[in-house]
Amino acid sequence: MDPRYIRNFSIIAHIDHGKSTLADRLLEFTGAITSREKRDQFLDSMDLERERGITIKAAAVRLWYRAADGREYLLNLIDTPGHVDFSYEVSRSLAASEGVLLLVDASQGVEAQTLANAYLALENNLEIIPVLNKCDLANADPDKTAEEIREILGLDPSTAIRASAKTGQGIEEILEAIVNRVPPPRGRSTDPLKMLIFDSWFDPYVGTVVMIRVLAGSVHRGQRILLMATGKTYEVYQLGVFNPYATPVESLSAGEVGFLTATIKNLADAMIGDTITDALNPTPTPFPGFKKIKPMVFSGFYPVDPGDYGRLKEALEKLRLNDSSFTYEPETSAALGFGFRLGFLGLLHLEIIKERLEREYELSLLATAPTVVYKVVTTRGEEIWVDNPLKLPPWGKIEHLEEPLVRVEIHTPAEYLGNILSLCEDRRGRQVEIRFFPNQKALIIYEMPLNEILMDFYDQLKSLSRGYASMDYEMLGYRASALLQMDLMVNGEPIDALSVIVHKDKAYRWGRELTERLQKIIPRQMFEVVIQAAIGSRVIARERVAPLRKNVTAKCYGGDITRKRKLLERQKEGKKRMKQIGKIQIPQEAFLAVFGMR
Ligand code: GDP
Ligand code: MG
Repeated sequence: MDPRYIRNFSIIAHIDHGKSTLADRLLEFTGAITSREKRDQFLDSMDLERERGITIKAAAVRLWYRAADGREYLLNLIDTPGHVDFSYEVSRSLAASEGVLLLVDASQGVEAQTLANAYLALENNLEIIPVLNKCDLANADPDKTAEEIREILGLDPSTAIRASAKTGQGIEEILEAIVNRVPPPRGRSTDPLKMLIFDSWFDPYVGTVVMIRVLAGSVHRGQRILLMATGKTYEVYQLGVFNPYATPVESLSAGEVGFLTATIKNLADAMIGDTITDALNPTPTPFPGFKKIKPMVFSGFYPVDPGDYGRLKEALEKLRLNDSSFTYEPETSAALGFGFRLGFLGLLHLEIIKERLEREYELSLLATAPTVVYKVVTTRGEEIWVDNPLKLPPWGKIEHLEEPLVRVEIHTPAEYLGNILSLCEDRRGRQVEIRFFPNQKALIIYEMPLNEILMDFYDQLKSLSRGYASMDYEMLGYRASALLQMDLMVNGEPIDALSVIVHKDKAYRWGRELTERLQKIIPRQMFEVVIQAAIGSRVIARERVAPLRKNVTAKCYGGDITRKRKLLERQKEGKKRMKQIGKIQIPQEAFLAVFGMR
């Protein structure tokens, strides 16, 4: 295929600005899917994604378009995930493109992810075509949005296309802009093979599927290839493109996009961002920007019914085939029994995995409070990485603790500035910058411990701004911090699953709140229950649950035997969801008390 007639592009947008809808419209307009076979949001393949409106896995589709110049062009639409947890994947999809449609909802204007994604596009030197979407809406303000694009992103507003992915307005103009403004791919077919992996997944029938962008050279079926990050070689078994259905091809050359399979047994061996080359005639240098993705957030997953441990293990093995970006290893808790410690890219990723386990594998799970990875520097100068409060070395052996720091960018209407600034300060943030834009909007930049945005920062931000503020964050590195380990004890017995690492300024507040929450959750027993929060041997907060005086059933239900039996049965049911700590039955709910602490 002559690269002069190829255009590779992605669509980037803030969530809900209409990326999937526009993709569908482009597919439909170019005839890649007929209206009859069209189902909404063709590119979002998982049910879960469609329900949440989040595109989790990137994919690429071929479109053929006969342009106004009379020539037929091959357009590769490379889909990108739309959430901050997946920004590395987005950056690799962009690296496979020469241009982007920067989609902005004209009724909402520029938001945090619009900015973050636009910066990624600029870093990759991509041609940016601004598209003002949802112009059909009565409250759309394309002029104002165009002005924001100029002010905030420095783009020429006259290049913005007014469109509606719903009505089809502007679709042809967008396609013409792709042909005329996005540069054709560079890279020679005669050079040694060089391909970028921008997505990979596990297919139960064909094994690992790898999405590739050919940067130089060409690849054909049966070719011996080398994956440069792992150093492993394979033979290309299948080669194909999505148009939009998987269609086999004999070869792909510089500038083209497609997929391959090569009996790669382990999905983790086909890492996003890795370079594939010819095993016999390798390229001297891999494509830059490869990063091995590391989980940032950890949580213990325990089956509510201990008998489900085996099923949970199997489910995790299966899920891991599909998603190599989460990790798991067995973990035991004195309070919760046998479970697993899972590592995720971010909180959304955690929620997705938990939901899939519960929905697809019908497991009922208990997740412990999410925690970041702390760096422990010991008195002997060693560095230890700890993702679990239970694994901290003895306090006397710790020289100091370090915690991960993020740079948070919040985009908000200026009227909520005060609210948001106090939220950021409360979360131990350090202000970097505030920028004001026309149309009463502001960009707030803070450095903040990752831990502080894990719990309910996003929800708070949304409620303090009536839903208008949006945010994005990126990792900065580690910083020494005055962190302490706080333990919770019930009648003197420490509950390991409730241990937390907390900043010293917040220890008292957390201790008080946690003991109060637990006091409300733990039912009265035949004896007094004392709940304590302690740092080392020092108790910082204490609550008590008064003992029961009489037999409740006898008192409440008198002689009505059927109702009494029902109550007892229900109690039995409830007990299954209790955990025995010493002599005390503690409801599962108690282990969630740590959530939402700040
Ligand atoms: P994504 O999160 O960026 O993929 O956004 P979606 O394509 O899922 O769209 C989010 C919502 O906006 C959906 O309810 C769409 O039907 C709606 N939507 C998308 N484009 C338009 C448009 O041009 N006009 C109107 N009125 N609604 C749109
Ligand atoms: Mg979408």
